[in-house]
Amino acid sequence: MSINTFIRWENVMDILTHYGENNSFMETFKHTANNEKVNLCMQNKFIRSCLEKWLDDPKFNDSLKNATKSKEIRLAANEEFKMNRLELCCKLYTKAAQFAPYKSIESILAFSNRSAIYLRLNKYQECLKDIEASLNILENSEINEQDVHKGQLIVKLLKRKIECLMALKQFKIAKTNWENILEVSKNVYKIPLEDQFIKKYKVLSDCDKNNSNNVDIVKNADETLTEDLIKERLNTNKINLPFRSPKMELCYSEVKGRHFVASTKIEYGELLIFENPFASVLLPEYYNSFCYHCYVPLKYYSIPCNNCCTILFCGDKCLQEARNSYHRWECKQGTSIFKCIGIAHLALRLTLETSKANSNNDQIYNLLTHIDDLKSLELFQYSLTATLLLIYLQKKTDFFEKHPNLVLDSVGNELLHHMTRLVCNGNAISSHMLSDYDSGSRTSIIDESRPRIGTAIFPTSSLLNHSCNPNIFSSNILKYVVIKASRDISKGEEITNCYGPNFRRMRLADRQASLKNQYHFDCKCCICLDPQTDDIFFKTLEGLVCLSCHNEIPATLLDLDVNDTVYCGLCYVRFRTLDYKRGLLKADKTYNKGMIQLEASNFLYAVQVISESLRLYTLVLNPKNSNIAKCEDSIAKCYALAGYFENCYMYLDRSFKKIEDRFGENSLEVAYELDKMSDIMVNNLDIRNDRNLIHKALKHVRRSMEIFDANLSAWDIPYSESGIANIKHKENVLLQFLEGRF
Ligand SMILES: [Zn+2]
Ligand SMILES: [Zn+2]
Ligand SMILES: [Zn+2]
Ligand SMILES: [Zn+2]
Repeated sequence: MSINTFIRWENVMDILTHYGENNSFMETFKHTANNEKVNLCMQNKFIRSCLEKWLDDPKFNDSLKNATKSKEIRLAANEEFKMNRLELCCKLYTKAAQFAPYKSIESILAFSNRSAIYLRLNKYQECLKDIEASLNILENSEINEQDVHKGQLIVKLLKRKIECLMALKQFKIAKTNWENILEVSKNVYKIPLEDQFIKKYKVLSDCDKNNSNNVDIVKNADETLTEDLIKERLNTNKINLPFRSPKMELCYSEVKGRHFVASTKIEYGELLIFENPFASVLLPEYYNSFCYHCYVPLKYYSIPCNNCCTILFCGDKCLQEARNSYHRWECKQGTSIFKCIGIAHLALRLTLETSKANSNNDQIYNLLTHIDDLKSLELFQYSLTATLLLIYLQKKTDFFEKHPNLVLDSVGNELLHHMTRLVCNGNAISSHMLSDYDSGSRTSIIDESRPRIGTAIFPTSSLLNHSCNPNIFSSNILKYVVIKASRDISKGEEITNCYGPNFRRMRLADRQASLKNQYHFDCKCCICLDPQTDDIFFKTLEGLVCLSCHNEIPATLLDLDVNDTVYCGLCYVRFRTLDYKRGLLKADKTYNKGMIQLEASNFLYAVQVISESLRLYTLVLNPKNSNIAKCEDSIAKCYALAGYFENCYMYLDRSFKKIEDRFGENSLEVAYELDKMSDIMVNNLDIRNDRNLIHKALKHVRRSMEIFDANLSAWDIPYSESGIANIKHKENVLLQFLEGRF
């Protein structure tokens, strides 16, 4: 085997699974106690050598610092700078800083160059931070004078600093810096300042430090959603985390296990839980766009880890906290290994967390593992991953040296149990992306997604049982979970979450199968116990029409698979299900063709094709069928992208009622739709002279705001900065329209 070919983790799994199945090993494994399973894998020479070999792959060094690569990227950024592509340039210097070895010349140059870009972009705070970072390294480390013109660079940075401070109107600090730069340039490095510069800032010499007129106006930073802001709001409201509403009573029963019951009436929108994760991980595809530690979106400023080059932090505080508590054991060899092993990364974090002396571990150990319900093959694969992580900790980190009280066996066992806990207790962390006007892109009309950016364990929330028709709504603010009542809950009613299979999205049989498979129980929620309601709901979503009179018939898409004919009670005619299937297939194919055109940016042609698929669907499906709504939504998307906003609005308006029926009137889906519609009305349609439309848009704006607030907010902690700002802005614009002020 050539050392240059990297073996994917899945392949290692396959090889070892194959090995296990074709040997007596599997039999021994089955009969070994759960607590001994990882140990058994550790003792097996073949398994161990396979895993060790994989960990030794030189490919993993790609995520370590690399001065040559940093320089390459910096030079590429310099070229972009000449073309004045500042945003791209900024991203590239960040990349250069990521690859630059800690406190090296490369890192000085990456930060100092990035500070120049920040200055151009009027990002003065960010600029100051980068100047500080480069000065710090320049002054405190052994930099060879030949490699960088130290004096020149220092003077250049100090000059830039004054420019920033003046722009921020921080005159007092600027004055101190002015005196400093005069001293440094004249007496330390003997580099004369240009006349132009002296002329511009000489005024600082004359201003009096103690004169009250020169007090620094510290600009109130924009209220951006940060971990600090959340902590401050929690403080003001005297809230200690984890917060749990006193109206939630923790109960226990044989059947339900631990669960929550409303001890008194709870109203729609009431806050029930606000909790920080016991442990969480950011998914690798978001390493460049969110802070690795606090999950704040990284718009401009970010700093790299001291040792690895794949992740970013929003600032020094997060970097230090992460390194001190878990990251120092993750990046000894770079972080690429975690891209390969998925959820097991969180199992490692849990182990690191529970190995801390002061952590409250009971809340984790009490969570169900279902380890005895797992099939032996599954358990074998979990054990292999746990063994891999154990070898990693032992061979690639100083974890065991730093924890002399921990033994290999018990840590391995811990890793395995955490993995099985995660399968049924892991929660997604999603980011709210309300139409983001910062990006200024038109696609904001389309992307209402809440992408999953991380996975976490929330001990209190994990105690909520599942229902396919839950009475709470769960969302995330950064990495915190916020749980609110999604409707009124009466006294004595159980408070339930949905683990995924929701009756509005999945049919009874599929829900039951999915819950059994992942969570090992038979759902007995009120919807599951009432197949008729379930049926009626899906009949409207999957209903068919008569092929001759086009009225609704009782049959649904599901009947097409079980019956040969369907019957229309108005025409007294039986139709072959085959004809329905043919019609549907044709419509599906046409729709897919339309979507390909959309992908290729042929928007108006895509409208034509998708409209044709809509016509074809209408021939066989009833108007409430989800395929019809899907077509209308796609057509609206095409029109928006093509700039035909009136048509776009028309189609959105058409599909709105269906979205309401499908997802419920207080659902986020409805709020996103209203947000989209009002966006178009305010930004793209000329409604100034139509009071009816203005009122309609205002109604949309206010209703969406109400739903967002009821579902997502807590103690004035904003759930999404740009989203809220945008909604408030729309409301203002509309009010001004009403007053005729535009
Ligand atoms: Zn952070
Ligand atoms: Zn690192
Ligand atoms: Zn159910
Ligand atoms: Zn008919």
